[in-house]
Amino acid sequence: PTPGKKLTIAIEGCCHGELDNIYGTLQHLEQKEGKKIDLLISCGDFQAVRNLDDLETMSCPVKYRALNTFYKYYSGEAKAPYPTLFIGGNHEAANYMWELYYGGWAAPNIYFMGYTGCVKFGGVRIAGLSGTYSQAAYMRGHDEKLPYSESSIRSMYHIRDFEVYRLMQIKQPVDIFLSHDWPTNIANYGNKEQLLSRKQFLRSEIEDGSLGNPAGQQLMSALQPRYWFSAHMHTKFPAIVPHSDSSITRFLALDKCLPGRDFLQVAVIPLISSSVFQHIFWTISYDEEWLAIMRSTHDVINLDRRHQPLPGMGALRKGASEADVKVVEEVLQQRGGAKIDPTAFVQTARPADASAAAASNSGSHTGFRGPKK
Ligand code: 5GP
Ligand code: MN
Repeated sequence: PTPGKKLTIAIEGCCHGELDNIYGTLQHLEQKEGKKIDLLISCGDFQAVRNLDDLETMSCPVKYRALNTFYKYYSGEAKAPYPTLFIGGNHEAANYMWELYYGGWAAPNIYFMGYTGCVKFGGVRIAGLSGTYSQAAYMRGHDEKLPYSESSIRSMYHIRDFEVYRLMQIKQPVDIFLSHDWPTNIANYGNKEQLLSRKQFLRSEIEDGSLGNPAGQQLMSALQPRYWFSAHMHTKFPAIVPHSDSSITRFLALDKCLPGRDFLQVAVIPLISSSVFQHIFWTISYDEEWLAIMRSTHDVINLDRRHQPLPGMGALRKGASEADVKVVEEVLQQRGGAKIDPTAFVQTARPADASAAAASNSGSHTGFRGPKK
C-alpha cells in the first residue's frame, strides 16, 4: 500500500487455532475478488498452542481439545502470509500468553497485542483488551502460578480492573478497538430482534443488561474509537453507537471460523488525515502514547491476590506523564523508530512435531476442511 491509499483489513471472529483455514480463505478471496489484504486481525480464542503442554493450560471442552495449526507457524514450517494481529479470548494457551503479557510476536508475522495493548499499522491505531469479563476476578491480582489449577486456567483469561484502567488513560484518537466479548448493552444499538431470532437464549440477559463486558462499554464511551470489533457470541452482529459529541463507533461482531459461517469481514479503512503519513509504517509498530502510559501506570499492576481499589476511572483519565512521553520518544529515536523489529520473535518452547500434531488433530471436531475451491 502507498500513503494516501486506504488500508484493507480482514477481521476474523474466533480463530480456534484454524490458521491454515483462515489464511487459505483469505488467499482464495484475494484471487477471486482481486482484493489485496494488508492486515489480518483476529478477535480472540486464537489458540496459540505450541505443543501438547500448552494444551494443558487452555480452557476448552474435551471434544475441541486439539492442536490445530498454529504450531506450524510457530515452528517455521509455515509462514503467515499476512501480518496478523490478535487479542486473546477465553480459549488460549494461558502460559504462552502470559509470557507475552505486554504483547509480542507469538510467531513470525503474528503479533499478540498483550493482555492490553495499542499498536499502529499503516497509520491506523489499534487498541485491544484480551480475555473476557468476570465480576469475580475483576478486582483480583494476577496471582496464578504454574501448574495452573482448574480455577486458575479460567481466571487467567479474566480481565482485571487495572488492565482496563491502563487502557482508560488513552487520550489520542483510536481507530480500531478489539475485545473478545461484546461491550455490555451493545445489542441495543443494532437489530436486536434479528439477533434474538438467531440467539433466543440471550433475551433475558440482553433485557436485564447482564450480557457482555461492562468494562468494554466504559472503554467504548471513553475512547470513542471509530470501529470496534468483537467475537465470542458466535454470530455476526453490526451496530452503531452514537456518542454525546456526535461521533459514532461502528461495531461489528463476527462468528467463529467454521464453514459457511460469517467469520470474516474485509473492511477498507479510510485514513483520517494526511498529516499522519509522515509517521506511517506499513508494518506493525509501537504506539508512542501507549508505551508512555505503560510506564506511567506501572504501579497499578498487581501480582498478589488482592489490591487496593483503583482511583475512579472516569475522573482520573490522566494519560501519560510528560516525563514518560519524553523517555519513550528518546528510546524510540535511539532504536531508529517505532517499527517493531520483525526478527525479534524468539521460540521459548519446543514446537509439537508432526506426529504428535496428527494424533492430536485426528480427534478435532471443528469439521473445517478448508475453503471451497
Ligand atoms: P466460546 O466459544 O468462548 O467457548 O463460547 C462462546 C459461546 O458461549 C457462544 O455460543 C455464546 O453464545 C455463548 N456465550 C458467551 N457468553 C455468554 C453469556 O454471557 N451468556 C450466554 N447466555 N451465552 C454466552
Ligand atoms: Mn470465546
